[in-house]
Order: sequence, then C-alpha cells, then structure tokens
Amino acid sequence: MEIRIAGITEESIMDGPGLRLVIFTQGCPHRCPGCHNEDTHDVNGGYPIAVEDLFNHIKQLAARNKLLQGVTFSGGEPFLQPRPLAHLAKRLKAQGLDIVTYSGFTFEQLTAMAVKRKSIGQLLKYTDLLVDGLYREAERDLGLAFRGSRNQRLIDIKATLAANKVILWEDAAKKLWA
Ligand code: SF4
Repeated sequence: MEIRIAGITEESIMDGPGLRLVIFTQGCPHRCPGCHNEDTHDVNGGYPIAVEDLFNHIKQLAARNKLLQGVTFSGGEPFLQPRPLAHLAKRLKAQGLDIVTYSGFTFEQLTAMAVKRKSIGQLLKYTDLLVDGLYREAERDLGLAFRGSRNQRLIDIKATLAANKVILWEDAAKKLWA
C-alpha cells in the first residue's frame, strides 16, 4: 500500500500541538485562493512511498527523539487518500504518537462522505485533532494557532464522535486544565 506525498518535515511546532512530524500529502481539489502549498495540488505530482517504509522511518525518528508528540497529515488534501493514511495512523497511534489531520472539507462533509467511503470514517476515527475547512484569504488571521483563516476549526474528534456533535479542541483543552 502506498501514499503519494509532496514531502515530509521532520520537526514542526506550527502544525498541531507539541513537536510533530508533518507529512504533506499530494493532491488537492480545493484550489483555495492564496494557498501556500500549490505544489501539492496535482494528484499526479509528488512521489509515492510505501506505508510500511514511511511507518518504519517515523518509528526510528520517534525512538531517537522522545520529544516527538505526534504526526500531522497536511496537504494537499489528506482525505483524497484515506485508506493508506488510516492504516498509517492506526500503526502510529499504537506507538504512542497522536494524529492531527488537516482537510479542506468540513467535518460535516467528511462524515457525509464516510457513508459511501468507509476509509474516510476510519481516518477520522484515528485522528485526534481535525483542522477543517478551506483556507479563506478574507478571513486570514496570523494570530490563530495551527490554522490560517478564522473559518477553520480545531475539532477534538474523540470528544466529537462520543458526543455526536462538534466539540472544539479549545473547549476540550480548557476542560482538561479546569
Ligand atoms: S485545502 Fe489546503 S492545500 Fe488545498 S488548496 Fe486549500 S489551502 Fe491549499
């Protein structure tokens, strides 16, 4: 099983909580004006990599760097490749790493799409934090954590699936520290 990716950043503090490895998936249908990752749009661009090789690479990095908190699936649009990413996410979580997934689709769109494509639901299930929605230049805000525009939400997926309504990550985080 392979994933087509644009590249990997091994250490980032900009793409989710803590120190994270970021996988930039290849292919995006959204074409948001002002997108900073235009090289990731072409579904035939980038390069394929075996899930097994990617997993082993990340596992080795995590063994060397105990500060690594998790892995972020960015893009591109990760939900164009839900099956290999869900498979990878499951294995990474078993190693104690958490998963952040970005999507130009909203959570509601993804759950509707998951009815027909089971692997979308699986990728959602293995995601801890979903950053959803298109990047909108008119709502750009450089002060936001982990996202570029105000319409985008940070969603605590575990809490959301348990409550059957969207629970924002900020709200869940506040509760943890209350
Ligand atoms: S969803 Fe992300 S990668 Fe895709 S066009 Fe929008 S900003 Fe760019």
